Amino acid sequence: MAVPKRKTSKSKRDKRRTHQKITAPSVTECHQCGEIKLPHHVCHSCGSYKGRTVLEVEEG
Ligand SMILES: [Zn+2]
Repeated sequence: MAVPKRKTSKSKRDKRRTHQKITAPSVTECHQCGEIKLPHHVCHSCGSYKGRTVLEVEEG
């Protein structure tokens, strides 16, 4: 098995890790009911997507 020749320096290691960061999930408002929803997802509160109802949402 290949083994690294040199220890990875702190600088190299930390530069690699600059890409590992958490970002807040992007959310949009539903056009139908104004609820917060994930983009490109069916709204969980009214069941609509792209202006038409695609899911029956049980209420109550
Ligand atoms: Zn909605």
